[in-house]
Amino acid sequence: MLLNKLHVALPNLNIEENKPLSPLCTLHVGGKAEFFVAPSSIEEMRILYNFALSENCDIYVLGGGSNVIFPDGIVKGIVISTENLNSFSWRTEITADIDSGFKLPLIMKELREKNLAGMEFAAGIPGTLGGAIMGNAGAGGHGICELLDEVITLESDGEIKTWPINAINYSYRYCSLSDSKRIIISARMTFRKSNPKDKDVLENFLLRRGSQPHAFGNAGCTFKNPEGYSAGKLLDDCGCKNLCVGDAVVSEQHANFILNRGHAKSSDVIKLMKICIQKVFDSTGIKLEPEIKILGE
Ligand SMILES: Cc1cc2nc3c(=O)[nH]c(=O)nc-3n(C[C@H](O)[C@H](O)[C@H](O)COP(=O)(O)OP(=O)(O)OC[C@H]3O[C@@H](n4cnc5c(N)ncnc54)[C@H](O)[C@@H]3O)c2cc1C
Repeated sequence: MLLNKLHVALPNLNIEENKPLSPLCTLHVGGKAEFFVAPSSIEEMRILYNFALSENCDIYVLGGGSNVIFPDGIVKGIVISTENLNSFSWRTEITADIDSGFKLPLIMKELREKNLAGMEFAAGIPGTLGGAIMGNAGAGGHGICELLDEVITLESDGEIKTWPINAINYSYRYCSLSDSKRIIISARMTFRKSNPKDKDVLENFLLRRGSQPHAFGNAGCTFKNPEGYSAGKLLDDCGCKNLCVGDAVVSEQHANFILNRGHAKSSDVIKLMKICIQKVFDSTGIKLEPEIKILGE
């Protein structure tokens, strides 16, 4: 029924049913999307979003899947992928308009080619610009939001809105755009001419990546650092390394990483996260907050 209506609303869009989500998420967990769609224009996105709103249908936005956990089983509603919203265009020598589905490593590549800098802290962060903005992804005290001039969104009333950066609040792993349901369509970002020191800064950030586990699926840091503390150290001190539920295990190399050793389920990862939160709370009174977004709970 819903599928027929979707076909009528968007006759040219490929609508996939029961689409497996685990291959699209870097932790390789999660069930299947009841419906999966990847619009390739703002207009398609707008029609789709308005359709979902009018049908009271749940929607989930998926970027690069490097910071999310979908539940096991069928994820009811529509998973909207931004993979086809991926254009990049220079407006000036240093300012670019970038679609939300454009990948962060590709932005870095564009910068290298133009001898521009400012985003060294993002070296090695996977995922898309939209996902990065939603969580103000970054490292070393920097976050992607500091490079934004403005963001274009599709709002929950179905309207397109432009947010100048001074209308957006952001801090460590937080962006106020994530406070309500909306889809990031694109952003305008300004970089700067690179200087000789930037190469060293970049190499330092890449060096730090070397201490992170790579062999198994993961979604980067599981928990945010509580103010004044390192979540990884707290987890380590509280004996969380190597704890496991099913095939989900706390990395021995870096306690803030949960790895999928092969056949972990979302429920295993979530259970393990809860055990870690409890252990740290019992020992220190500090309540760890997930950095990974758990969707559809
Ligand atoms: C190996 C590894 C290392 C990592 N290192 C870091 C790091 O150093 N620093 C850091 O901050 N993160 C890190 N991450 C986490 C992750 O890469 C970033 O958070 C990334 O920016 C998420 O982008 P994504 O496109 O994958 O988002 P997704 O995982 O697809 O989505 C994340 C959230 O954003 C929402 N979302 C995505 N796109 C949109 C959109 N267009 N509009 C509205 N909502 C949207 C989703 O619904 C979800 O809630 C790491 C991950 C891995 C796997």
